[in-house]
Amino acid sequence: MELLVRQARIWGREGLWDVGVADGRYAEIAPRLAVAGAQELVAEGRLLAPAFIDPHIHLDKVLVAGEVRPNRSGTLREAIEILWERKARYTVEEIVRRAGRVMEAAVLTGTTRIRTHVDVDTIGKLRPLEGVLAARERYRDLVDLQIVAFPQEGIVRDPGTGDLMREAVRMGADLVGGMPHNEASPEESRRHLEICFEIAAGHGRDIDMHVDETDDPASRTLETLADLTVAHGYEGRVTAGHTCALAAYPDRYARKVIGKLARARIHMITNPPTNLLLQGRLDKQPIRRGITRVKELLEAGVNVAMGQDCVMDTFYPFGRADMLEVALITAHAAQMGLPHEIETVFGMATTRAAAALRLADYGVEPGCAADFVVLDAPTAAEAIRLQAPRRWVVRRGRVVAETVVTHRLHRGGEL
Ligand SMILES: [Zn+2]
Repeated sequence: MELLVRQARIWGREGLWDVGVADGRYAEIAPRLAVAGAQELVAEGRLLAPAFIDPHIHLDKVLVAGEVRPNRSGTLREAIEILWERKARYTVEEIVRRAGRVMEAAVLTGTTRIRTHVDVDTIGKLRPLEGVLAARERYRDLVDLQIVAFPQEGIVRDPGTGDLMREAVRMGADLVGGMPHNEASPEESRRHLEICFEIAAGHGRDIDMHVDETDDPASRTLETLADLTVAHGYEGRVTAGHTCALAAYPDRYARKVIGKLARARIHMITNPPTNLLLQGRLDKQPIRRGITRVKELLEAGVNVAMGQDCVMDTFYPFGRADMLEVALITAHAAQMGLPHEIETVFGMATTRAAAALRLADYGVEPGCAADFVVLDAPTAAEAIRLQAPRRWVVRRGRVVAETVVTHRLHRGGEL
């Protein structure tokens, strides 16, 4: 064994286990392994979980907040507009630097797989993509990065973006993104969606869109996305992020849309940190939470994951790329506090995100890629409650990060 973890609790299993890794994959998992490991980690009852996944972040935009004017209205619209001028000045080197800092923070907190959206439009053109592709190369020993070509400024209303999207896919973007509600009319939103499906089907790519990121109940592109997913035979291959308007729909219409999402096997990603801050800005009281109907989606059998979305950009001034922080915020925002609900929230950063990313070799099972995090806590609930230190982070059987925290209480005042 190249790596042995001794006496770990494993998320989803009872008891204590030894975990043996060979060739970057789990080789054996048993209560006691008699073999020796080239490297051994003594877990002492800590929780071993599959490494976290952040399925929705914007690495091209991270850490720009200090260099632009503040977002005074606090709305999504102003956040997008502030970025126009900054985006036109991006360079590949600074994108690599900013994205790299956040990818390092992600790995240090237990995340080894990330899906990032990257702006593709006539302002920044393909520069954001060039930067994130370079960052992917620079960090390929630490992070698996999926890239989504994201037409944030619209496609119909931003002529030329459709061609840039096609070029982005040829350059190395893995998925086709979308922002269908950012068009001038329902007809143009539908055209936006159709163009995305054309590009995706033409290049054999999956789809991951920003859908109805607004609390306007008239924003109804999610239903069209579900219809087109079935029409194109894309069931299971489409992800919808944000979908805030779903929470604003009348209950009857929301139920109808959720039924269509289940039939189209669309993966849903909620981004509570950003949406709690940006949505409901025009409400007096009560102010809506601005996040999608997480519990109703889960009850209908729809896969739901969660993402950090933003780190210190024009949309959101906080964020540490730490999925335990996202989990804590999501549990509050979606009101998931029962024991089984907390387990589900933990799954939204692990197994549920893996399903959205369509990863075949994810999980703590023999044969799967040995990507895991050992937490300074015995359970998922305690890990979220305590925002537990990530004692070790392992990717493909190699320790890529470790954290040791020292706390001392001085009762007599001595140091
Ligand atoms: Zn987003």
